[in-house]
Amino acid sequence: MLTLDDIDVAGKRVLVRSDLNVPMKIGGAGASISDDGRIRASIPTIRKLLDGGAAVIVAAHLGRPKGQARPEMSLAPVAVRMSELLGSPVGFVAATTGPVAEEAVDKLEPGEVLLLENVRFDPRETSKDPAERAQLAAELAELADMYVSDGFGVVHREQASVTDVARLLPHAAGQLVLAEAKVFRKVLSDPDRPYAVVLGGAKVSDKLGVIGNLLKSVDRILIGGGMCFTFLAARGHGVGDSLLESDQIDTVRRVMAQAEESGIEIVLPVDVVVARAVEADADTRTVGIDGIEPGWIGLDIGPETIELFSSKLADARTIVWNGPMGVFEMAPFSNGTRAVAEALATSPGFTVVGGGDSAAAIRKLGLPEADFSHISTGGGASLEFLEGKELPGIAVLDEE
Ligand code: ADP
Ligand code: MG
Repeated sequence: MLTLDDIDVAGKRVLVRSDLNVPMKIGGAGASISDDGRIRASIPTIRKLLDGGAAVIVAAHLGRPKGQARPEMSLAPVAVRMSELLGSPVGFVAATTGPVAEEAVDKLEPGEVLLLENVRFDPRETSKDPAERAQLAAELAELADMYVSDGFGVVHREQASVTDVARLLPHAAGQLVLAEAKVFRKVLSDPDRPYAVVLGGAKVSDKLGVIGNLLKSVDRILIGGGMCFTFLAARGHGVGDSLLESDQIDTVRRVMAQAEESGIEIVLPVDVVVARAVEADADTRTVGIDGIEPGWIGLDIGPETIELFSSKLADARTIVWNGPMGVFEMAPFSNGTRAVAEALATSPGFTVVGGGDSAAAIRKLGLPEADFSHISTGGGASLEFLEGKELPGIAVLDEE
C-alpha cells in the first residue's frame, strides 16, 4: 500500500475520499455542525497534499440521502468549517461530477481545495450493480490525476468513490486510513499482553463476529451494556425486562465454552443499576446479579462491577473498548461507561476506542481525547477490522 510519502503530487489534481459525515443540527439560521471531529481528522492529509503542490478535490458523503439531492444533507456547511480548520479557502461546487463539477475543477490551481457535493446524492455511489458504480467512478476519475483514500469510516464499503475509483487512478492511502489500519493491524496480530477487550452497546448480534475472532488473540473479555444480559441469561440468571436476544443464547453459550477451552476469561457484571423505565428521572436501584426482578430493566453496570472491571483492566498492556456499559446518554446510567473510559485514560498500556457511540461517550463525558492511544473515526469499519474481515477499501489500495 502506497502512502503520501511515496507519491509525487506536485502540479497534480488529487481526488481525496474523506469521511465528512458529521452530525448536523437543523434550525435557527440553518444547519450547523454539532461535532466536527471527522472534519478535523480529514485535515492532515489535505494539508500534506497542498504542501506537496497538489490541487485537491475532496469527495465525501453526508447522511443517507438515498440517491437524491437533499438540501439538508448538502456538504456546503462542511466546506465552510473545513476552510476555518485549514486556515485557507475551501471551494464548494453543488455537483459531484459532470460539466458543472468539471468547470470548477478546471479553475482549481495547485494549493487550492474544492469540495464536491454529497456523493450519495448520486444513486450510483452505493449501487449494488458494479457497472453502475464503475460509471460514476469513471466520471470521478475524469476530474483527477490521482486518488487518495482517507475516509476510514467508509473503507468497509464497496462504493464508487471508495473502491471503484481507486481501480481507475494511481492511488495511495491518506494519513488517517494509514494510522487506523496500523492500529488495528497491531492489536489483531501483535498485541502487548495482557490483552483485554471491553464490549458493550446494545446488541449482542452486532458483536458476536468480533468476539469469535477475538478468541484467537485476547486474554480477557469484559462484557457490559445491553449485550451482557444475553450472556447472563446464558449462565442461567434472570434478567427481568432487560434487553435480551433469546435467539442468541445458544450461540453465546457456545462462545463461552470455546473461551473456556482456550483459557480466555469472560468477565460479566456482578451487579447492575436497574429502573422500571428508560428515563433520565426514573427511580433507580442497584441490585446483585440474581436480583433483577420482572418489570425492572438493567441500564448500567453497578459499583461492584466497576471495581471488578477496573481491576481487570489495571494490568492490561493492550485494551480495546467498543460499546458503552450502559445507557450513558442519561446521567443516572452513565457511571459504568465513565469508569471504563477512565480506566483506559489512566492505563499506561496501548488503548483503542472503536465504535461511534463509544467515541461520542468520551466527548460527552468531557474526557481528553489525548488520554487515549487511539480513538477510531470508523464505527462499522473498526468492528469489521476486529472481526478479521478484509475491508474492500483497504484491500483495493494494495492492488497495483
Ligand atoms: P458503538 O456505536 O460504540 O459500537 P453500540 O451502537 O453498539 O455502540 O451501542 C450503543 C448504544 O447502546 C447506546 O445508545 C446505549 O444507550 C445502548 N445501551 C448500552 N447499555 C444498554 C442497556 N443496558 N440497555 C439498553 N441499551 C443500552
Ligand atoms: Mg453505535
